Amino acid sequence: MILRCATGNPGKLAEFRTAAAALGCSWADIRPLDGLATLPPCEENGATFEENATKKALHYSAWCEEYLFADDSGLEVDALGGAPGVRSARFSPEGADEANNRLLLERLAQSEDRRARFVCVIALARKGALIATFRGSVEGVILDAPRGSRGFGYDPLFFFPPLGQTFAELDAGTKMRISHRGEALRRLFAYFARLPRS
Ligand code: IMP
Repeated sequence: MILRCATGNPGKLAEFRTAAAALGCSWADIRPLDGLATLPPCEENGATFEENATKKALHYSAWCEEYLFADDSGLEVDALGGAPGVRSARFSPEGADEANNRLLLERLAQSEDRRARFVCVIALARKGALIATFRGSVEGVILDAPRGSRGFGYDPLFFFPPLGQTFAELDAGTKMRISHRGEALRRLFAYFARLPRS
């Protein structure tokens, strides 16, 4: 079954495809939305991950026949009242990963409470109508210096106590098994597994 993914980011698409294969969901043929870059953009100005993922799924699913999913994700830090949250990609004015991580460490410099979680919400839609949203999250703590060279975003600062490693020290398969994105994706696939087969 063709599942369109509303992302122009080839890395994210590859991550979703890897996860589908690792989860044994070979029926899921995940493809980008043709001509996404030429479509009117969708402004991600929602107050929640659900709102942003839903906005994107509704907007882009109007441009294809198949099921389409869109995701929104980010980091919630307890000591910062849930920030950067939906603003995770643009936390610092520069917006690059390194600058975002630097700002995060600055903001937490005086804080003993280092609890944080990654959240991912996937919204599934078809022809401009929302079908459902699927949420995944993973709890961790923010270190006071980066560790590891894999992954992206806040991975080098996000320490996962059960494995004693940061997300930037994990291989892609292990990260997907425990991550917010992996959990949201598993829930999306479980939705399709429950649909009656024609
Ligand atoms: P978006 O879902 O593409 O809007 O990404 C939001 C931002 O959240 C990313 O640019 C990262 O800064 C952060 N983020 C989301 N998921 C992850 C992750 O798995 N690791 C590290 N950072 C993440």
